[in-house]
Amino acid sequence: MNFSDFKLDKRLLEAIDYMGFEKATPVQEQAIPEILEGNDLICCAQTGTGKTAAFILPILNKLAMEHNTGTDTLVIVPTRELAIQIHQQIQGLSYFVSVGSLAIYGGGDGSEWEQEKIALTKGNHIIVATPGKLIAHLRMGYVKFDQIKHLILDEADRMLDMGFYEDIHKIISFLPKKRQTLLFSATMPSKIRELAKKALVDPAEINIAMSKPAEGVLQAAYLAHDEQKIPLIHNLIADKPEYQSILIFSSTKKSVSEIAKSLKKKEFIVEKISSDLEQKEREEVLGRFKARQVRVLVATDVLSRGIDIKDISLVINFNVPEDAEDYVHRVGRTARAAATGVALTLVNEEDMYKLKRIEDLIENEIIKLPVPGALGESPVWDPKYRPRKRSYYKKKSGKKKFNK
Ligand code: AMP
Repeated sequence: MNFSDFKLDKRLLEAIDYMGFEKATPVQEQAIPEILEGNDLICCAQTGTGKTAAFILPILNKLAMEHNTGTDTLVIVPTRELAIQIHQQIQGLSYFVSVGSLAIYGGGDGSEWEQEKIALTKGNHIIVATPGKLIAHLRMGYVKFDQIKHLILDEADRMLDMGFYEDIHKIISFLPKKRQTLLFSATMPSKIRELAKKALVDPAEINIAMSKPAEGVLQAAYLAHDEQKIPLIHNLIADKPEYQSILIFSSTKKSVSEIAKSLKKKEFIVEKISSDLEQKEREEVLGRFKARQVRVLVATDVLSRGIDIKDISLVINFNVPEDAEDYVHRVGRTARAAATGVALTLVNEEDMYKLKRIEDLIENEIIKLPVPGALGESPVWDPKYRPRKRSYYKKKSGKKKFNK
């Protein structure tokens, strides 16, 4: 489903485009129409499913058409990291509409207090806050929440685990009764149901089934610098006749060509497939791969979902897939009921946080391996590492361009 199907404001569609979101994720497909309708919602979905954009986009769509200046939306989250992450996503998605957002969380040096006080008194369209810090402000008596129309409780189960149950009820007591409330949670223990009963009215329910790779797939990640990746592939598949069919995914056409070229030199029977090929040529290549005339197929990420071949003995992700669900789809191509397959993901320092996101989705740790000693030192596993962003947007040929 495309985002244009939701009939969102054009400026939001433009921002979505710049963010690089092509298709709506399942949670977005289901949640966006419900939220646009004005319904309360309980949504069981994990981090990594695209749930943030699912609740932010319909709210931005409403705010884009209004001229209110008061606080319209309150998002309550368990941690400062999540508050910052949501605030950043709001900034990206609201780039072409004038909507203000502020993240309020504890642990600062106090210098942020005055700015927060002004926002909470005069109004700021969207406030993303952790419970403790928000309650500290609420106790001072100046917070104006009388215009709030939307309340979002994100990662509700985690908030409960962290002991915020009473705090959430306290915060809700400061809000107008007439509002739209959305509750997101990865799990639905009875205490969450209880909270939902008290805070939501006749909610719609969405359950995004957890996808997990099939049993029997051996998954591992190699920690490798970019320049180590191609030699590592040679190393992994040389002298391994048991890998009869090998599928390698990479994010760029350039690296697909480089991988295919280097493997050809080593006399592997290899073909590549990318958007450069006509549909007919792609089908022919796939046909040869299915018929086992070609042992290694190298393909761009873009085509990963379109390639419908099962029973592959080895899948290699040259980079960590952007979308955690894509990882699960790919890994699912190996291993039939009785057979086992292997899925290897090559992870450089910049992609480590994405691998962690995948582990959260599949609720499993993926074993991490260093490259063989002959290839040099591996990067050290650090899922908290974030690639440095020079600026949120960079200008490219006079046009604003989202800089991921
Ligand atoms: P979330 O589940 O909200 O934490 O989102 C996980 C990641 O998916 C975030 O980095 C988003 O930027 C990204 N994302 C959200 N929606 C889409 C989409 N439709 N297509 C691609 N990436 C998305």
